[in-house]
Order: sequence, then structure tokens, then C-alpha cells
Amino acid sequence: MRTLSRSSASLSMILFFMLTSSQAYAWHDKTHLSIAEAAGFALWYSAAAPDVAKSKTEFRSIEEKNHYFNNNAHKEVDEALVLEQSARYNKTGDVEGHLYGAIIGAVRAYNADSVAGKYAEYPLVFCAHYIGDLSMPLHNTEYDDFNKTRHSVNDGIIESSVRNNIGYIQRNIKEINIENESDLAREIAKVANTARKLGAKIREENRNMTQDEAYMQIIQSSSLFKAVLKYAGKKPC
Ligand SMILES: [Zn+2]
Repeated sequence: MRTLSRSSASLSMILFFMLTSSQAYAWHDKTHLSIAEAAGFALWYSAAAPDVAKSKTEFRSIEEKNHYFNNNAHKEVDEALVLEQSARYNKTGDVEGHLYGAIIGAVRAYNADSVAGKYAEYPLVFCAHYIGDLSMPLHNTEYDDFNKTRHSVNDGIIESSVRNNIGYIQRNIKEINIENESDLAREIAKVANTARKLGAKIREENRNMTQDEAYMQIIQSSSLFKAVLKYAGKKPC
């Protein structure tokens, strides 16, 4: 009996660590896949892969800072702030994170690989994921107690319905035109600011996002990623 209770205790410990470690993940997997699929990305089914890469301890320090920006100073995000972060793409030891620069970095990596004649789709997979994280309020705001306590539940607000709502997301996609890196940086800033404001609102009202709010957020991610695919010369599929 003692062995049994000990093994069930360790099972609950494992579950506890799985739950707490998943708090750092942003939208859950199906939400990420749906954002990329609605945007017309051929490799939409890989859009959660950057979180898989991040889960390996050896890669975590490089990858995890690409997934958020703890905007502790509550700064309005603008083109300059986005571009300034791009130098930190894949850099370790950056406490506040550099999600916005990671999007720029992934698009640059795609361009560099295409120009070199290499298989260039994987940088776009990272880009799809980061643009998904971009609309998540708790990835754009301080990592305070509110964020820690409510992160996982807000990651999963639409996880059970989202795969059935690709058409709904697509019908609400807004056309965005990106012609150069400045345009891209400004569009990243716009989504970041809506996420930041929603983050402040749910803190003020001490609540989770509603499903409607979560859909409004991810529709912005799909809209922006669709524009990035066009900018990269991809035909929607
Ligand atoms: Zn992520």
C-alpha cells in the first residue's frame, strides 16, 4: 500500500510539473494551428512546433525569449521598439523577452534562406507561432502574479472550439498590406498594443478573457500572418 501511495504521489507531482511548466506556453497547440491554417499557411500543422522545441531544456534558453515581451513599463509599442528587439532574436539572458523582434528575425531568416536557395519553410513556421503569441495578452504584459495564476487557463480559452471555427476566423480576417520591414514592424506594434490593452483590462476587472475576446485577438494574428505570407511571396493554400 505504501508503494502504491508513493507512486500515486509521484504521479501527482509529475502532473503538477506538467501543468506548471505549460503555463509558459501561450495559446495552446490547436489555437496556434488554427491561426496558421486560417491564414492559408501550407505548414499550418507545424505551428505549435516552436513550443515543442522550447520544451527541450537544451534549447529553452535560446527559444523561450522569442515568445513574449514583459512590457513592465507599460510602454506603447511602436515601430522603433519592434525593430530594436530584432537584434536580440535567439539571444539568451534577456529577462524581458523579445517576441516582436523574433517575428522580424524569423522573416529575415526566411528571406536569407530563400535567397541562398535553401528550404526556407521552417523560419516561417517559427514566424507563424510568434505571430500567434503576439495577440495573447499575457505574452505582452508583465509576468506578475495575475499572469502566473491565470496564464494557463487563458491559453486555453478557445482551445476546445477553435478547430471547428477556421471558417469563422477566415471570414473575419482583415486585409493588411505589407511592402517593407517598416510596414511589418508597424503592424506588429498594432497587434501588440491591442493585446497589451486587453491585458490591462482583464487585470483591472480581475477576470479571464471571454471567448469572444480571444477570437478577436487570434483573428488579428491570422490577418497579420496572412499578410506576411503574401509579403514572403507565398500563395495561400
Ligand atoms: Zn509560444
